[in-house]
Amino acid sequence: MTVSPPPHHWPLIIIGTGFAGLSIALHRMKAGQEDFIVLEQAQSPGGTWRDNRYPGCACDVPSHLYSLSCAPPWDWQRKYAEAPEIEAYLAHLAHSLGSRIRYQAQVKSAAWQAQKQLWQVELNDGSRLTCRFLVAGVGPLSEPAWPDLPGLKNFTGPLLHTARWPKDQTLKGQRVGLIGTGASAIQVGPALAQEVAQLIIFQRTAPWVVDRKDHSYATGTRRLLQRLPFLRQTYRAWLYLTRELKGLAFLWPSLMHRIEGGVRRNLAHKVANPQLRQKIMPTTPLGCKRILLSDTWWSTLELPHVTLETDPIHHIEAAHLVTETGARHALDVLVLATGFRYQDNPMARLFKGENGLTLEEFWKKQRSAYLGMMMPSFPNFFLLTGPFTGLGHNSIVFMIECQTRWIQAALAHVTTQRKNEFRVRAQVYEAFAKEMNQRSKKTLWMQGCQSWYLDPAGRNTALWPGFSLSYWWRTRHFNAKDFEYA
Ligand code: NAP
Repeated sequence: MTVSPPPHHWPLIIIGTGFAGLSIALHRMKAGQEDFIVLEQAQSPGGTWRDNRYPGCACDVPSHLYSLSCAPPWDWQRKYAEAPEIEAYLAHLAHSLGSRIRYQAQVKSAAWQAQKQLWQVELNDGSRLTCRFLVAGVGPLSEPAWPDLPGLKNFTGPLLHTARWPKDQTLKGQRVGLIGTGASAIQVGPALAQEVAQLIIFQRTAPWVVDRKDHSYATGTRRLLQRLPFLRQTYRAWLYLTRELKGLAFLWPSLMHRIEGGVRRNLAHKVANPQLRQKIMPTTPLGCKRILLSDTWWSTLELPHVTLETDPIHHIEAAHLVTETGARHALDVLVLATGFRYQDNPMARLFKGENGLTLEEFWKKQRSAYLGMMMPSFPNFFLLTGPFTGLGHNSIVFMIECQTRWIQAALAHVTTQRKNEFRVRAQVYEAFAKEMNQRSKKTLWMQGCQSWYLDPAGRNTALWPGFSLSYWWRTRHFNAKDFEYA
């Protein structure tokens, strides 16, 4: 018997098996459209929840909201799921796609072939595939950002980044330095404090941290949520609406300023030590960066073997981190919780649109995409969780599902019209970017903070400047007149 080689042409190729890639694939399977393949660079699915393995890694969005509405219910163990449980959830979803997912298929480049009206996708093993439509679910927060600190490369001990945590790494009994106090740091810090001999946390900007109020679900609650779809959906809707209401404060800074007083009082009440209290009191407006959730951050800072260093880092010298005032901290291990390359994500070099123009070149003027998904020089190409579709107050999975439905509608329209090619009109793209810039100006994110939301010109290009409900409204239909066809 001869085995036929796998087909090289697909109507649709999806890249990535995180929430975004799986969402499109599962919606398509559910609609009986099995005309696609999913490419995954790693050996297993999960995207960011496979790659972020640092101790304490969890989600700060409630699990019942941080899951796909089209997928079967999952028996979430906690209000805020830990990374391994989310990874298991995604692996379970991926399993249902069977051989539709090709693992260890790392995309080296994807280039638009104008004459053939196809995308040519080249993999790292040298093989080539073609497709009519290409969906990139490659994740905007995938590439670790390494700080530009003098001497960092010459640090003599292990240098660990939270986004690339080695499997089975243990730091028991070590003197550990932790750089950063963002969303990853406030999770890894308390977890590390439980095993290390000494933990020095280097803080550049004091973060705003509020209570997470995490808890595991009682067995009875889990059973009820599993068995009663109405209860589960009502709970999900309640979680969604309470978060959506918080969006009010992000869009109306005066409202957030009022809330700020209460958060400050809570902070002052939580930390008894006056010197520490002074160090942790934020100097930036509440909400201009991600508001962090933790039940353990402040108590960790009060532990006798934990030090919060606020003196700026000057350089690193062999096994010492030296601050600007000359303090020398001897360290065995240095942990970087320094975030991701969002604004200059190298994935933008992989995609080549018309005339070989890369996404990186196309975005030179400004990182933008119509509805966060499409660019004029990139026909038949959809970007998931693209510019302007992040959220500071609600679940990104909601945005992904809005994008999924919209892409499904777009593909249905183009297919029924028997068109081979479609692209967003340049004027529509420009008008959208202008509107996003205008609306972003009023938000808190552009009021005095440095964050990964902002490009070098200080413009928000990351978050949706509105309620997620308004994104749903904008994406509920595919507006055929906004596109050109061939
Ligand atoms: P981040 O928010 O960008 O924080 C990076 C931290 O490193 C900041 O405290 C930053 O200080 C510090 N830093 C960077 N370079 C430095 C340098 N040269 N010297 C000293 N300090 C430096 O990164 P992240 O914590 O990894 O979070 C990124 C995003 O990932 C979040 O906003 C969120 O969207 C996502 N995330 C989500 C979860 C979740 O629970 N869902 C968990 C983790 C991450 P400054 O503040 O002064 O810049």
